[in-house]
Amino acid sequence: MSRFLSSRLSRLGTYVPGEQPQDRQYIKLNTNESPYPPAPLTEEKVREALWQLHLYPDPDCRALTKALAEYNAVLPEQILCANGSDDILSYIFLAFGDAKRGFSFPDITYGFYQVYGDFYSVPYRKIPLREDFSLAPEDYFALDSGIILANPNAQTGLALELKQIAAIAEKNPDQLVVVDEAYVDFGGESAAALLPEYDNILVVRTFSKSRSLAGGRLGYAIAGKELIVDLNTVKYSINPYNVNRMTQAAGIAALQEDGYYVDCCKRIMSTRESTKKALQALGMEVTDSKANFLLAHHASIEGEALYRSLKERGILVRHFKDQRIRDWIRISIGTEKQMARLVAEIGAILE
Ligand code: PMP
Repeated sequence: MSRFLSSRLSRLGTYVPGEQPQDRQYIKLNTNESPYPPAPLTEEKVREALWQLHLYPDPDCRALTKALAEYNAVLPEQILCANGSDDILSYIFLAFGDAKRGFSFPDITYGFYQVYGDFYSVPYRKIPLREDFSLAPEDYFALDSGIILANPNAQTGLALELKQIAAIAEKNPDQLVVVDEAYVDFGGESAAALLPEYDNILVVRTFSKSRSLAGGRLGYAIAGKELIVDLNTVKYSINPYNVNRMTQAAGIAALQEDGYYVDCCKRIMSTRESTKKALQALGMEVTDSKANFLLAHHASIEGEALYRSLKERGILVRHFKDQRIRDWIRISIGTEKQMARLVAEIGAILE
């Protein structure tokens, strides 16, 4: 760090994204991307957008917002687009958090919640998941802070039912309940259905996983109009042009070719289930994931050792150092062929 860095920042930990080594070609199963490329129309629309790169993009993303509103059966005023859902999460901490208004979230979940809490000096409380990694809604009843839940949850893949989210919103009428649905299209239920009943729910979505657009950076919020106005206060104080022209075009194209992505999700879910069975046949414990990844471990090998052996064999998976999951690895779901290779390599390592 330089001698100019603020003392506040020098004390902070940052989010560590999954590695992207360049030393060789890996089968990349470490950042929950889709193994399938965007649908054909995307290229055409992005190409068209290229010719207008001398002009700023629409700061309100009107065409994309309208398409998203139709897709989710809400009003355009209930949608806000941003540069990935990380951007939306950042706005949430800025708009709704302060020294007195913090957030609660599970001890095992998406690491960025904690990073934003530290970065924006918003206090947070980690509520431990149960022994089996399940989340008990009653642990979130009558809290004195906002709540952030990834559903399905990051790292474990376990999903809450809508009635459980509704119960949490019901018991915390004066708190914001953020539902991060990065993985919802792989078997979860969207809390967007609860919005007419609960004005304290804010849903966060991304095109990074189920819409094959991780490289495009597109996320959005769905909520009541007032909450979207608040998020816009942040957006228009930081960077109104947060979604570039190519990404706005790619997002609209993705919504027009929804069937392609629904098919990709089905394939990924079916590959997830067959991979899960194959890993269980090798003696691994695997969570009941409703996401595009599996969390798995084997009693005979430490998580880090398994991660390293797989990397040596050309497969990248994710290992977390958090105490409760340090003996596990998180495996993104790739193509059938990639997963067959993963299972074969794990089998060889365990021998
Ligand atoms: N939420 C969760 C639970 C995630 O796992 C991720 C991906 N790392 C994100 C949000 C952020 O995704 P993006 O910024 O690509 O939309």
